Amino acid sequence: MGKLLIVGTVAFDAIETPFGKTDKILGGAATFIGLAASQFNVDSAIVSVVGDDMPQEYLDILSRKGIDLSGLEIVKGGKTFYWKGKYHNDLNARDTLITELNTLADFNPVVPDNYKDSDVVMLGNLHPNIQISVINQMAKRPNLIVLDTMNFWMDNTLEELMDAIKMIDVLTINDEEARQLTNEYSLVKAAEEIQKMGPKYVVIKKGEHGALLFHEDNVFYAPALPLEAVFDPTGAGDTFAGGFSGYLAATGNTSFNSIKNAVIHGSNLASFCVERFGTERMQDLEKVEVSKRLHQFKALTQFEIELQ
Ligand code: AMP
Repeated sequence: MGKLLIVGTVAFDAIETPFGKTDKILGGAATFIGLAASQFNVDSAIVSVVGDDMPQEYLDILSRKGIDLSGLEIVKGGKTFYWKGKYHNDLNARDTLITELNTLADFNPVVPDNYKDSDVVMLGNLHPNIQISVINQMAKRPNLIVLDTMNFWMDNTLEELMDAIKMIDVLTINDEEARQLTNEYSLVKAAEEIQKMGPKYVVIKKGEHGALLFHEDNVFYAPALPLEAVFDPTGAGDTFAGGFSGYLAATGNTSFNSIKNAVIHGSNLASFCVERFGTERMQDLEKVEVSKRLHQFKALTQFEIELQ
């Protein structure tokens, strides 16, 4: 079984969408990544930190999916990372209202010994120094290192983020963040610039408009499945990252073709995440539902055309 090491926030999220709002519920990049990756035959572990205000029942949601939490530090008397966001009527746009780093502010990640030989490392969104520290603790170079980040870290820790980006194989990022990182409006040019920074592959996520994969002169596009109702987009990007990295860890194949399939699996899983608040939809997602929607995906993008 492939091994996947996940780093990222395990958080409290408070979310407001045009359809309703929640108080502090379970969220965080590593949470969404782990839940999505658990759809595949992988042995995964999360490295993260929480305070002892994190209810055990939330952590049990992850353990029940077989995710190893021995690298999750629980700080006595500490407070868990807290994020509050509000979506516009156009759900592609959101404002961050609160980011409280709390225990994340001085977290020293420790990779469990039995995950130091992981095949794939998925560096979810969090401080780039933590992402770098995790790479440096690996006993061997993983087959693939994937990094996801967001504007918060570009605004506050750009130099450290650039150092992390040098060390990785795949960067997943959304369209606005790709523009911010490179000062290029064209996503094609932005992807070219990012490849010069280190990663061989760049995935640009465009919310309900799908995702683009760039590698040298190749471009691949995966649409997002047109859904009747999008309820809460929180975690869609992380769910994409979890599906992407989970698939690659499970297959052990990191060819361009396999990476294309990983983009499809990531998009497929993200389409479920947005159907309910927070992690709700991902908690009891069945393999048959996933497989059925994968068929819809295939039908959506397949056509026959006669070429001269
Ligand atoms: P996404 O919608 O995929 O961008 O991810 C939303 C998740 O990211 C939420 O569950 C938040 O807890 C988490 N999050 C928000 N801001 C940050 C941040 N600055 N660093 C790490 N994780 C964050």
